[in-house]
Amino acid sequence: MSSQSVLVIGGGLAGLASAVALAEAGIEVRLFEKRPHLGGRATSYTLPDGNEVDNCQHVTLGCCTNLADFYQRAGAAGKIRFYDRLYFVDRQGRRSTIEASSWLPPPFHMTPSFLAFGALGLADKNAIARALLAIAWAGGKPPNIESISMRDWLIRMKQTKGAIERFWRLVLVSALDEELERMGACYGIDVFWKAFLGSRGGYRLGIPSVPLGELYEGCRKAVASRGGPVRLRCGIREIRVSDGRFAGAVLDDDSEVSADACVVAVPHSAVLGLLPKEFGEQGSALEGLRHIKTSPITGVHLWFDRTVMKEPFLALLDHTTQWVFNKTLLYAQAGGAGAKEMRSGGQYLQLVISASYELVQRSRQEIIDLCLRELADILPGTRDAHLGKATVIKEINATFSPEPGIDRWRPGQDFGVKNLFLAGDWTRTGWPATMEGAVRSGYLAAEAAMAGFGRPRKFLQPDLPLEGLSRLWATRKNVAG
Ligand SMILES: Cc1cc2nc3c(=O)[nH]c(=O)nc-3n(C[C@H](O)[C@H](O)[C@H](O)COP(=O)(O)OP(=O)(O)OC[C@H]3O[C@@H](n4cnc5c(N)ncnc54)[C@H](O)[C@@H]3O)c2cc1C
Repeated sequence: MSSQSVLVIGGGLAGLASAVALAEAGIEVRLFEKRPHLGGRATSYTLPDGNEVDNCQHVTLGCCTNLADFYQRAGAAGKIRFYDRLYFVDRQGRRSTIEASSWLPPPFHMTPSFLAFGALGLADKNAIARALLAIAWAGGKPPNIESISMRDWLIRMKQTKGAIERFWRLVLVSALDEELERMGACYGIDVFWKAFLGSRGGYRLGIPSVPLGELYEGCRKAVASRGGPVRLRCGIREIRVSDGRFAGAVLDDDSEVSADACVVAVPHSAVLGLLPKEFGEQGSALEGLRHIKTSPITGVHLWFDRTVMKEPFLALLDHTTQWVFNKTLLYAQAGGAGAKEMRSGGQYLQLVISASYELVQRSRQEIIDLCLRELADILPGTRDAHLGKATVIKEINATFSPEPGIDRWRPGQDFGVKNLFLAGDWTRTGWPATMEGAVRSGYLAAEAAMAGFGRPRKFLQPDLPLEGLSRLWATRKNVAG
């Protein structure tokens, strides 16, 4: 047994990534999660009728290298299926697809399917091509974007209305869970650089073929293999700091736990409530947490009595609904829960609406009616199908809002208390609020803990290597400074 121990508070992806990395490095880890299940916001649970639903559909991209590494460590990599072809549909029900060509080098690898993309006019495509080239030519970092919104940058780049609404908005609102006018241009531009321009495989869409909760069993085993428990329904009420160092934690049941170091991996809104009150005061390292705003996501789960959709997923243009996932098909491919539904002839769809500010005040029935009207446009089979059951899950504080300048409020892992480190998608990882950002923060916190023990280790994975002209242009840019 190792002589060093770490307490991890929070069993979301940040806490799990930290815990697994530290356990693999030989540290005794104890993980405390206040809810009855692991996974935090990226989890699933069982409804009273026995159906297991994801809190909301979660997807990853080829450029999320740390999340891929985490799934590997957790033994869940085989449960994520990657799709090379992305499916789109417009109001008239016309389908278009986007995929990489195997022969054109980045950043031009998407050009053939972009040119064939039926939902955009020539003027829109021309404008988009100019803006994408400007991003690639600048190695992903066009000038003067730090304090402006994505919409400001698109106007600066003279984008057409069609290009903004049917291309930039379509991709970015669901990727960053925010409207273009509230989204920092550097975040929006980075999505295109990492996913669509820098390398051939960055855009590939990874979708779990099992409910999210089934991805984390390996984490529990990794932690247990080093002797540490994973304790569910076990919240931490207070973190003690004494003489500038971590001095233990108090559980909700008033018992106390201690360890050589601690990783706090709870949402940003919960951190200050755990720490002594001076950490939230003006001028303190965590003062900025109060300035971080959040944005909502609404997930709608619909069970039909027949097959209404044949694609695995669709991204919707010109609708409130942004994505529809064919859960029956996605699960059936793994031979799991979906296979049963497939045999019964029914179909389970999950719809996602990011930055769903306008739905927050709407009733469950109003949201279902809206979604059914939109599905009638794109999946005519739903008009006659019987809807057996529907569930609406509104996550009001789904993710932090990536406003221009948000990074000044995001603390790093080390905030000045010895042996106490922060993890969470909201910490300063350079990534937006995503599973990849959460895992990165967990690895960084684990690296900080190992360095504190005098046993430095590297857990953070490199980005996908840049390819083709994108690599040349980025290198030239870096050399030129
Ligand atoms: C609806 C929705 C859809 C999303 N879709 C995507 C997507 O498609 N792709 C993507 O990459 N990302 C997506 N995200 C974002 C992603 O879920 C998050 O970025 C990521 O899961 C955050 O992980 P985390 O560990 O930082 O935080 P959390 O998941 O919030 O984990 C924090 C954990 O701490 C626990 N906790 C809190 N207080 C205490 C306490 N006092 N003691 C013990 N435990 C405590 C909580 O219960 C929770 O389990 C989505 C998020 C939502 C809400």
